[in-house]
Amino acid sequence: KTSLDIASIRNDFPILNEVINGKQLVYFDNAATTQKPRLVLDALSGYYEHYNANIHRGIHHLAEKATAAFEQTRKRMQSFVNAEFSEEIIFTYGTTDGINLVASTYGRKFLKEGDEVIISTMEHHSNIVPWQMLCEEKGCILKVIPIDDNGDLLMDEYEKLLTERTKFVSVVHVSNSLGTINPIKEIIEKAHAVGAKVLIDGAQASSHFHIDVQDLGCDFYALSLHKIYGPTGLGILYGKKDLLNAMPPYRGGGEMIKEVTFEKTTYNELPYKFEAGTPNIADVVAAKYALDYVDTLGKSNIATYENGLLKYATEAVSEIEGLKIIGKAKNKVSVLSFVIDGIHHQDIGVLLDQQGIAVRTGHHCTQPLMNRFNITGTSRASFAVYNTTEEIDLLIKGLHKVKRMLG
Ligand code: PMP
Repeated sequence: KTSLDIASIRNDFPILNEVINGKQLVYFDNAATTQKPRLVLDALSGYYEHYNANIHRGIHHLAEKATAAFEQTRKRMQSFVNAEFSEEIIFTYGTTDGINLVASTYGRKFLKEGDEVIISTMEHHSNIVPWQMLCEEKGCILKVIPIDDNGDLLMDEYEKLLTERTKFVSVVHVSNSLGTINPIKEIIEKAHAVGAKVLIDGAQASSHFHIDVQDLGCDFYALSLHKIYGPTGLGILYGKKDLLNAMPPYRGGGEMIKEVTFEKTTYNELPYKFEAGTPNIADVVAAKYALDYVDTLGKSNIATYENGLLKYATEAVSEIEGLKIIGKAKNKVSVLSFVIDGIHHQDIGVLLDQQGIAVRTGHHCTQPLMNRFNITGTSRASFAVYNTTEEIDLLIKGLHKVKRMLG
């Protein structure tokens, strides 16, 4: 039983009324991006209708109002992840951008030939490729923590990889393909014990449970707002102040400077040093409303409800012959990845779409992880707070139909 009023929550999301192929939309692609509540949409149009202006430099009324709203979201993000200082919150284009920022600035400045970077088998491409690019450029070595058949990290193997050569560890908090919640506090402590810095890819974690960067002790934490009921193309990078101060800037341009002459430029202080150019003002302003929405529902209420959906769906799909769940960690979020014997994941996706059901199919930007399971992809249903058991029943019915047609 949930304390949340799901019918009323569904009313907050206009898109859920869409009719797809003659059927009311069943949206199970929440790990890719969540839908946006009306108050986020209203905040976006409200900004453009009433106080659209460029921020930080203007002295007129609109510029001051826009700047205040922009900086208010930074404060809101600070409390959302419990950062010690608001200047530790850097606005980015998303998780990908945050990871690239760290690899390109911290990585380029502080890593050298022979140093080792550790990632894991279940990383999203965005937490693999930036480190590969860095390693190629600097002559560093990339090491990978293996996983077991359930999709849990092999922590013994992780410990074996850690040496005094380990300079950076970058791992995902929650796997987008498997749902696994990793023991990141332990991962961080062990990395720190050998003097390595740690980045956590929080893209999938931040909508499901409370994030406390001080309690975790991570050096960097990257997330995307579009996965937390907020706008697309916006994320934050949290970084410890001392580290951010020691890092060179990422992009050069307006806003990130203190003074420019043709001979020399001095850089702005945090957080502006890392925010070159006109930022995504409208989306930053609207993001605050997404965070307020999540916190009003209560993250633990959301988690409890979503876990109920996952349990219901896991039991229901287990009745389907030939279906195998990929990702059976004990500790997981509401992500259900599966394959069905003899049926290609893409065909499953297309046939479900014909019934108005949106799931994701393919490698989910985790090709090495798919290789680990000897598959090319999965079908993935991922649940959010507005989903219902009735919708899961439709998915099950849909899968039976897929089996009848193709099995
Ligand atoms: N990491 C993980 C675990 C993800 O699920 C995603 C988004 N699919 C990303 C990183 C990248 O996020 P974005 O595309 O918003 O930069």
